[in-house]
Amino acid sequence: MALVRQLREQWGHMPGRLARLWQPQARLSRAPGAMVSFTFDDVPRSAVTVGARLLAAHGWKGTFFLAGGLEGTRTDGQQMFGREDLAALVAGGHEIACHGFGHRRLPSLPWRAIGEEVRRNRDWLGAAAGMAMAPAFAYPYGAACPRSKTAIARHFPLARGIAAGVNGRWLDFGQLRVFPMERRSFTPEGMRRAIAEARRGGGWLVVFGHDLQPHPTPWGETPCNFARMLDAVAEAALPVLPLTAAAAVARGAPLSAGPAAPASARSRAPGRG
Ligand SMILES: [Zn+2]
Repeated sequence: MALVRQLREQWGHMPGRLARLWQPQARLSRAPGAMVSFTFDDVPRSAVTVGARLLAAHGWKGTFFLAGGLEGTRTDGQQMFGREDLAALVAGGHEIACHGFGHRRLPSLPWRAIGEEVRRNRDWLGAAAGMAMAPAFAYPYGAACPRSKTAIARHFPLARGIAAGVNGRWLDFGQLRVFPMERRSFTPEGMRRAIAEARRGGGWLVVFGHDLQPHPTPWGETPCNFARMLDAVAEAALPVLPLTAAAAVARGAPLSAGPAAPASARSRAPGRG
């Protein structure tokens, strides 16, 4: 029975594994060196009130993957972004990108419904903020299969997953890997290792998170640890770019953003984790 259960479990992981192997958008990175991007999904209010604020203290801009259907809701015990948070992100020059209007798992949707999730989200942002979404997508729950990955590639030249890892020289623009700022996996050692790996190999470290609060959900982190992450990136003097700007550099555009902000601009942790 244990074997049957194991086989079933392995079979359940198969679409996700196949998706990571199915890489029609993979290219060799042309970035001159290591880069870092900070991304938030969904987005809980604290990602804006704490995350965007700490990024701004360093002079950096993040990428926020919004799902219009979550606006103003309470989801998993979290107060999600409201119209004023959206306005704050826009005013701060942060990047607003697409996470699917209803935050649905794409592998379970028919082809047309995937396009509808994208269109509805684009229309929502156009009506809510009078602006276009950045050309990047984050798979809700990180869930992808070769079919949904192909569907998303028709709409976006860039997509981000949630599989952990530093993006190396061979880059899958259709499913970027991440360093999760998540309570269930974050360690200061892991953070230092990821930054060192990116630095050593000229990799692209894409940080991703959700809520930032003193007692975070398993998918969030403390403001203290997020500030720690920002300080470690600043100390490593790695350039920080929004996701689409970093992707442009990886495709051969010149790196125009300067190096990390000086120490005087570094944030202070608002509290202990
Ligand atoms: Zn999400």
